[in-house]
Amino acid sequence: MKSDEPNISLSQLGEFGLIDRIRNQVADSRSVAVGIGDDCAATILPAGELLLTSKDLLIEDVHFRRDWTDMYHLGRKSAAVNLSDIAAMGGKATHLYLGVGLPKTLTAAEIDQFTSGFLDEANAAGATLCGGDTCRSNGSLLISVTVHGSILPEQVLRRDGAKQGDLIYVSGTIGDSALALAQLQRGDTPSTDLAQRHHSPTPRLALGQAIAKNNLATAMIDVSDGIFSDLGHILEQSQLGAQIIQNQVPLSESAQLHLNSHPNDAEIALRGGEDYELLFCAPATNNDKIKQLAAELKIPLTQIGICLPASQGLTLVTPAGQTQSFQSTGFNHFR
Ligand code: ADP
Ligand code: MG
Repeated sequence: MKSDEPNISLSQLGEFGLIDRIRNQVADSRSVAVGIGDDCAATILPAGELLLTSKDLLIEDVHFRRDWTDMYHLGRKSAAVNLSDIAAMGGKATHLYLGVGLPKTLTAAEIDQFTSGFLDEANAAGATLCGGDTCRSNGSLLISVTVHGSILPEQVLRRDGAKQGDLIYVSGTIGDSALALAQLQRGDTPSTDLAQRHHSPTPRLALGQAIAKNNLATAMIDVSDGIFSDLGHILEQSQLGAQIIQNQVPLSESAQLHLNSHPNDAEIALRGGEDYELLFCAPATNNDKIKQLAAELKIPLTQIGICLPASQGLTLVTPAGQTQSFQSTGFNHFR
C-alpha cells in the first residue's frame, strides 16, 4: 500500500496502521508458516542445514545522516549490511526482522520509502520480512535488523580457519564507500558512483555461497570496518600474521579518478570501511578455481596479500616498496 496522502502523519496512522502498511507490501513465501501479525513468526529451515543469525543496529547520526541519504536508500542499506553478514558465512539469506524506533516527525510517505527500499533489498536476496517491532523514538531514528540464513554445516566459513601460506583475496573494489563518506564529511559532493557505493552497498550473497559450496576458502569476513581491521579479526582468530601489498588493493575507476586530484585520500581508501565486499583466505592451489569463479560471476577477485606466521604481525608493503608494520585502525565505536 503506497501513501496516497503523502503528508499523513505517524500519529494519524498509528502503530498498527503502520504495521499493516508494511505487511501489505510483503509477498508470501513457502518458507514462512506464520509471518507478520502473530506473536512470533514461524519459519521453515531446510532439512539438515544450520540456522545463521546476525543483527545490526543503525542509529541516526552515528551510522547515517538523514540529510546525506534518502529514506529509500536507508531502507536498502539497513537490509544490505545485515545480508552481508550472511554472505560472509557463505549462507543463503532466508528471513528478516525489522525493529524501528521512529521520531514522531516522520511522515507515512517517508516510512513507505524506507519500507520499499528495505523490501527491494530483501527481495533481491530472496529473503522475506517476517516480523519486527515498532515504537516511538523521542530522539533519533533507530533501526535494528535481524537476519536469518541457512547453510549446510560443512560449508560454514568462519574467521578461524585460515592457514599459513594462504593467499588473501578481496572481491570488487575497496575504498569507494569511505571516499564518499570523507567527501560528505567535508561538505563536498562525491561522484555518483562513489555515493552509490556508500548509500547502497551490495551484499555479495551469490559470491559467498559459491565460495562456500566449492570449498574454495579457509576463512571469510565481510569488509565493514576496513580491510586491515577485518583481516585483523581473521588473523587473530586463526593465530596468523599477514602481508598486504598496497599496489594490489583493487580500486575502482571512480576512486582512482578521485585520488588523482586528492592523493592525500589514499589512506582513507585503504583503511576506510563499509565496502561490504568479501575478504577471504584460500590455499594457493585454489587460485585457478578462484579466477574461474570471478569470470563466471563477473566479480573481480583480487589477491592482495598472503598469510604468514603470527610472529610476523600484519604488515603493508607501500607503493614505494617500504614495509610498514600495521596497527589495525579500522572503525571502532568507542575509540
Ligand atoms: P507484540 O505485541 O506481540 O510484540 P506487535 O504488536 O509489536 O506484537 O507486532 C505485531 C506484529 O507485527 C508481529 O508479527 C510483529 O512481528 C510485526 N511487526 C511489528 N513491527 C514490525 C516492523 N517494523 N516490521 C515488520 N513487522 C513488524
Ligand atoms: Mg512488539
